[in-house]
Amino acid sequence: MKRPMRGIDTRLIHAGEPDPLIEGAVSMPIFQSSTFAYRGEGDYHALRYIRLNNTPNHDALHRKLAVVESAESALVLASGMAAITTTLMALMGAGDRMIAQDCLYGGTHDLMRHEFPRIGLGVDFVDACDPASWPQALTPHTRVFYVETISNPLMRVADLRAAVAFAHAHGLIAIVDNTFASPINFRPAEHGFDLSIHSGTKYLGGHSDIVAGAVIGRADLIARINRTAAHLGGSLDPHACFLLHRGLKTLGVRVRHQNQAALTIARFLAGSGRLAKVNYPGLETHPERARAGELFDGFGGMLSFELPGGVAAADAFIAHLTLPVSAPSLGGVESLVTRPATTSHSGMPREERERAGIGDGLIRLSVGLESVEDLLEDLGAALAAC
Ligand code: PLP
Repeated sequence: MKRPMRGIDTRLIHAGEPDPLIEGAVSMPIFQSSTFAYRGEGDYHALRYIRLNNTPNHDALHRKLAVVESAESALVLASGMAAITTTLMALMGAGDRMIAQDCLYGGTHDLMRHEFPRIGLGVDFVDACDPASWPQALTPHTRVFYVETISNPLMRVADLRAAVAFAHAHGLIAIVDNTFASPINFRPAEHGFDLSIHSGTKYLGGHSDIVAGAVIGRADLIARINRTAAHLGGSLDPHACFLLHRGLKTLGVRVRHQNQAALTIARFLAGSGRLAKVNYPGLETHPERARAGELFDGFGGMLSFELPGGVAAADAFIAHLTLPVSAPSLGGVESLVTRPATTSHSGMPREERERAGIGDGLIRLSVGLESVEDLLEDLGAALAAC
């Protein structure tokens, strides 16, 4: 009998699960086997081998992630960066170019800036909130248009509808890094994106205990990326598959809590009158608040802000916090706080950071699942002490 699966929470739990259950196991067992008995497969890529990302643990995750984002297909990889590099190297060759948002996760930005030129891939950076500026970046060799749903660490919301329209009008593949929004708040395929990329290390896993990545979208493109993945070798270990699979089942309850808590905290910080700036797409003062409200089911669990006293004040504030751990990364059950200039964006030269609006004193907060009253008390005490 067909099971009702309209709701995303039902899909997170039941989609892609083995049917019938393996030995009746309610939780997907871990297949810790690097190779599987030969069944006469005629093609190298059809062999069942751990690096080919096709053990039962991979297959179950691929089915689940595709259904969760209303997409045709999905592929898990060894990290978010493995998902990004494998995808772009599968879709572009020497001499090709891509258009990318100018303010991206530092690792992605560094990859495009420093590694890609060495292998003949060109990147033209644009302001993703200003579609009028995009045509100047187009060349006959442009293949891809690349944005983030909510930019890291400034929480800008690119003109996502215009990005899809522009890409398709010019024969480009539209890709969005959907890590910050998660499928709970935004499902790229429903808005026409060809591919969505995730660092599964963050919200999808949700417990700060794995490194994982995923690319989700058009079946023809995922098949191409999968072939390249087999050669680049960034496959996800079955034990990490298991943890990602387990984390996914609670994604909805976690992210909805984080949406609510982050909005409460952003309003509290903005209302304190003690901060130079608070960046959160759910605040009325955010430049893309209207767009975020139309496109997203929630504004996310990430915010950033600046104290008037710059780096010294930021470091003192972080040192006073007792609940959020000072660490890079995000999307886990515990709140994490960091100064991006020293962690996620430290690879970006200071002038470039400043041009992008990332001040050295900027603080980024990933709101966890602690009681929001306790977080407000902790943040308020740290503000009072600075
Ligand atoms: N994309 C975004 C938006 C990120 O914030 C990160 C890491 O912080 C990545 C991709 C890279 O993910 P990973 O660390 O899993 O390779």
